[in-house]
This record gives sequence, structure tokens and C-alpha cells, in this order.
Amino acid sequence: MGIAPKATERWFILGTAPPGSQGLYCRFVIAISPARLRARLEALARFGALPGGGVTRPCWSPPHEAARAWLLGELRAASLQAWVDPAGNVFGATGPPGLGADRPVVLTGSHIDTVPEGGILDGALGVLAGLECLEALREAGAAPRLPLAVAAWSDEEGRYGSLFGSRAFTGRLDVERIPEMAAADGERLVDAMARAGFDARRAPEARAPAGAVAAYVELHIEQGPRLEEAGIPIGVVDSIVGVRRARVVFTGQADHAGTTPMDRRRDGFLAAAEYALRARDLVVRRGGGRSVTNVGVVHVHPGVSNIVPARAELVHEMRSPDADVLAGLAARCESLARRVARRRGVGVEVQPMSATAPAACAPRVMAAIEAACATAGLASTRLHSAAGHDAQNLAAVTDAGMIFIPSRGGRSHRVDEMSDWEAIGRGAGVLLGTLLALAR
Ligand SMILES: [Zn+2]
Repeated sequence: MGIAPKATERWFILGTAPPGSQGLYCRFVIAISPARLRARLEALARFGALPGGGVTRPCWSPPHEAARAWLLGELRAASLQAWVDPAGNVFGATGPPGLGADRPVVLTGSHIDTVPEGGILDGALGVLAGLECLEALREAGAAPRLPLAVAAWSDEEGRYGSLFGSRAFTGRLDVERIPEMAAADGERLVDAMARAGFDARRAPEARAPAGAVAAYVELHIEQGPRLEEAGIPIGVVDSIVGVRRARVVFTGQADHAGTTPMDRRRDGFLAAAEYALRARDLVVRRGGGRSVTNVGVVHVHPGVSNIVPARAELVHEMRSPDADVLAGLAARCESLARRVARRRGVGVEVQPMSATAPAACAPRVMAAIEAACATAGLASTRLHSAAGHDAQNLAAVTDAGMIFIPSRGGRSHRVDEMSDWEAIGRGAGVLLGTLLALAR
């Protein structure tokens, strides 16, 4: 069996023939089409396109729903089975519709929703490269042992609840919380989904049967500068950070900002400021070199210039790929808050808001990615993902991994987010090789 790559197609995979080829040991070539992938990325970028470049395409919005309809059309045009589950996840598959434990699939995917004023690759790349791989396999007549499927997970960016679709798929959605899930502007998830033709209360029905997914691999832009700075084309993700958020509230006393002597003030804001600076140093010093921290929300009460702040409230976020390190940092920061409060004569309360556990990528998925890189003659390096991804939910139910390609200038979540088209083609080629190895 011999399938020649078209002259315009640069990335191809060599492998052994599938079972049933009458004992003949032969090589075959399956090629992805970088041109077709680029055309689809540019077509998807038109849904929610902004005049100066980039896209705003939040989940369940009219541009997102138009993009969903377009994606379903592309999947069907590629002769794949396509369907949407009750959580709004879109699937395309080489096998029959639906994912069942009786026929476990090798799954790839990402998301087609974006942040406001986002770029054209975050999420879109993984979905459309997955589609390209499945189409290339079908065109080549390749029949891996396991069926393959591609998913577009709903609301990855978390307008109403982060990683919503993959949480539903992996049984991690809290049914009780669905009625209260809402966007920052107050719009409720149930209303947004109803507008798009979905019943939010049915989203938990998207849960996949145990054993339905044999492995999961997601291609994504790095969204940071590490690969570009190192000049390495492929990142093999070894872990995805856990994120902890806590509200830290310092309570002092309101006083006249002119007449109260400095040494008698119990200033809630100054305690919060000291905490923010020292917590930053603590995370840098004790975070094992891979932890980060951010104070992105600050409220000062009563918030006028002629009153000493009685109360200051911070939302303190920490991320680390190591669960023990993250737990240690959280404990140290809590005792730091108490020390700062005592020294400054104010009270403090630390209220945990959310905590996701770091996810480890599966050794066999990392090995499959590295083997695909070796076949394509591409250098790779292992690195952790400092951003959350649907793969961290999939890691709870199957062997999961991620492939990163460099982001130009490390830019992401902004309109000029981009990677080189050659890098995109390389990433899709490595995804194809990885999927083939996992489905063999
Ligand atoms: Zn993403």
C-alpha cells in the first residue's frame, strides 16, 4: 500500500500498515494539508471577527453558535460523524456517532470559544488540527485499531464557568450549582444556553461512560514565551497547573485621615499592600521555580481619600504544577497574612474561593508525542502548562497529554496572538503522528 503525499504537503507520517493487509509489511504515508488547515483557521476567525484583527466569540453568543453550525458542516463535509451533546460539546468521529465504553476512542480537541478581544488560535488550533488529522486519515484509507474523534469543548474560557464542557463530559459538573452559574455581567448560564437552544439542567447528561476514552491529546499554542525563546518547535506538556484562589480580608478601623496621628492608625489597606508584596516574594522563593501568583482584585472601604481605610479585600491567586508545593504555599501565605495583621493591629480572614488540582500528563501520551517528533525530525522539550486547559479534566478519566507550539512573542488572550504557519503545520503533523501511535 503506498499513498504519496501531494507535492504541496510537507508534513507526513511513516508507519506500518494496519492489520488485515495480508501479512505484507509495508510503509504508508499519511499527510495533513497545511493549506486546508490554514483555510479553516481563517474561516473560523471570521465568526466574531473584530475590525482591527482578533475575535470576540464567547460561548453561547450568536457568533459562537454560528461558528458551531459552521464546524458541524465542516465535520460532515469531511465525511465524519458529527453531533452535539447536552453540554454543547461538538464531536466529529471516524466511527459511529456517540462515545461508548464498548468502543473506546482516541480523542483530540480543544475549544472554539474565545475571551473578549482574543486571538484566532487559542482553542481553534486544536479543534481544526484535530479535524484535519481525522480527514487526512480517512483520505488515506488508514484504519487504526481504535476509532478517533475530535471534540470542541464548550465554554473553556469560562464566561459562565471555566472548562464547562469538559467538566460535564468527565462528570465534574456540580448539578446543584448550574442555576446560579452566571457571567460577570450577571447573565445566567441557563438563559444563555436557552438562547442557543440548550437546556442547562441537562448538561450533566454529557458525562461519558467510564472507559469511553482510550487517550486524549490536545494541540494548543503555548500562550507564553518559553518555546520561542529556546528556539524549540514542540513542547511536550508534562503537567498542567493547579489554581488556588482565596479572598483575604484585612479589617482595621476607619479614622479621620488628617487628624489621626500616624502611629495610631489601623489601616486595612496598608496591611493588604504589605501582604501582597510579601506573598509575591514568598511564592517566588518557595515555589520551586514554577509557581506564580497574582493579586488581580483589590477593594478598599470606604474608599474615599479623607478616611483611613477600615477594610481591604484582595483576591489572591496562586498557580503551581506541583500539588504539594501549592498546598505548602497556601499554608505559608495564610500564616503570613496573620503575621502581617498582628504587626499592624488589624484583623484578617482568609476565605478559600476555589482550588483545582494540578494534573499530570500520562507518560505514554508524552512518549507518543516525543516519538512523533523524532519521526518528523523535530526537537522537543518537556514543560508545564501555566494555563488551565480541558486536558486537565480529561486527565481525571483517561491518559491525557498536550502538544504546544510557540506563540509569537509569547502573546495570547489578545488580538495579535499568533504563531507562524509553518509552526502550525508542524504541530498538526505531530498531532497526527501521536494520534496514530495512540490508536494503534
Ligand atoms: Zn485555550
